[in-house]
Amino acid sequence: MKFIFVTGGVISGLGKGITSSSIGRLLKSRGLKVTAIKIDPYLNVDAGTMNPFEHGEVFVLDDGGEVDLDLGNYERFLDISVTSSHNITTGKVYRSVIEKERLGEYLGKTVQIIPHITNEIKCVIKSVSDATGADVCIVELGGTVGDIESMPFLEAVRQMNTELGKGENCMFVHTTLVPVLGTVGEQKTKPTQHSVKELRAIGIQPDVIVARAKEPLEYSIKRKISLFCDVPLEAVVSCPDARSIYEVPLVLEEQGLTDFIIRHLKLADAGQDLTEWKSFLSKVVNPTRTVKIACVGKYTHLADSYISHLEAFHHAGAELETKVEMAFIDSEVIQEKGIIPELAQVDGILIPGGFGSRGIEGKIMACRHAREDKVPFLGVCLGFQMATIEVARHLLDMEGANTTEIDPETKFPVIDLLPEQRDVKKKGATMRLGAQPVVVAEDSRAFELYGNKNLVMERHRHRYEVNPKYIEEFEKAGWRFSGKAPDGVKMEIGELVGHPYYMASQFHPEFKSRPGKPSPLHFGLVRAALQRKYQS
Ligand code: GLN
Repeated sequence: MKFIFVTGGVISGLGKGITSSSIGRLLKSRGLKVTAIKIDPYLNVDAGTMNPFEHGEVFVLDDGGEVDLDLGNYERFLDISVTSSHNITTGKVYRSVIEKERLGEYLGKTVQIIPHITNEIKCVIKSVSDATGADVCIVELGGTVGDIESMPFLEAVRQMNTELGKGENCMFVHTTLVPVLGTVGEQKTKPTQHSVKELRAIGIQPDVIVARAKEPLEYSIKRKISLFCDVPLEAVVSCPDARSIYEVPLVLEEQGLTDFIIRHLKLADAGQDLTEWKSFLSKVVNPTRTVKIACVGKYTHLADSYISHLEAFHHAGAELETKVEMAFIDSEVIQEKGIIPELAQVDGILIPGGFGSRGIEGKIMACRHAREDKVPFLGVCLGFQMATIEVARHLLDMEGANTTEIDPETKFPVIDLLPEQRDVKKKGATMRLGAQPVVVAEDSRAFELYGNKNLVMERHRHRYEVNPKYIEEFEKAGWRFSGKAPDGVKMEIGELVGHPYYMASQFHPEFKSRPGKPSPLHFGLVRAALQRKYQS
């Protein structure tokens, strides 16, 4: 097993995750088996309890792990499914060291960051990567070099490099920013020099520098970075703003990065095959049509909060040669002002998942608008629950129908906790999580969208369910549950009979969407939006 450690310097948000995923994709294109690990230096055990507004979306894995959104990028770029052990956090590492200490496993020793925490980190990295049987493991270190929190992780990977004999078993890729002052100024290398200095102070010499800049690095700037940072010229790589994140692997490939890594790590090269990737990218960047989809939610100020939906629309759009433009609309605004023109003009509406009561009535108003005006609609998780409440209130005359998450006293608790969730008090990792089977009814739209499969696996992250007491009434009103859990009690997909496209799911189809294999329900929404825009 060979390791590539990806660190970040200068500022956060440089696209380290995309760089890591792209390198992975490039190595995969040479016939290598690649896996990836994300290290997050925060004290939370997992991302499940973190606010998407601060941290971006919580990504959900097959095994129910609630993890950093970068794992979503790895899955999409590498077309693999990882487990929650691929997200290592300070919280997880400390928890396990403290548990061992309590069991007396350290035999009377003083338990310290070095060697106990660092040993634990090395051990986890090795065991997680070994379990995959991959040739190369990419380890992305979250945070920025110099942060107090990331020190133990950097120290651990420094030790790993030494233990593995330096040279051909490990390499360090450092991502930095090369800013330009003003509009025509010179590209500045000083921040890169400083962050490499910082990295060296902890004993790590980068082998590759990937520099984010608006434009490609000028030759003289590459030379300067090479000289000051002691990295071969060919290992200074530009990562300018790309047309799509899916273009980044090609930008890196063109500069010879894959060849450099393969030589450095002495990997077997089976020859390059990026045909599929290129054809996908060409569909993403050459759309023939455009549709506009509104995302009516709560975290509309940070696109990262809904990143898997955005990617699912890119995947769906590519298959239909369509550019999907998103309009993020705050559901509280709808609640206050009604169906504003921005919402009335779109070709389709998405209501994504969420928690809590803020903006809930606005979401229900958006559902009603989509249902009555026959606007293509997709509701996911909380969106499914809102669509169900809307049908209860306006087609079944259940005034005040609600979910007990928001109104525990409602007369019509159409969305409620199932008995198994009632006594759960802890918040971390206690929802219904991860991949669960969904039985799809044969004569439904869902069945067609899922390629005539009647059993599919989709990922979940929720506590509340459609109250089984009302199922019959809903179906009579035309809100048909075409997908159900095998127990027949938990409703999974709703589709409105007689509407061009009004679908909702309790699960999150966006988490399994991949380039070339879009989420069926997002694909359906884009297709219906196209029909509405171009055929009416
Ligand atoms: N809050 C809802 C529940 O817990 C929906 C969760 C979600 O949208 N992810 O059931």
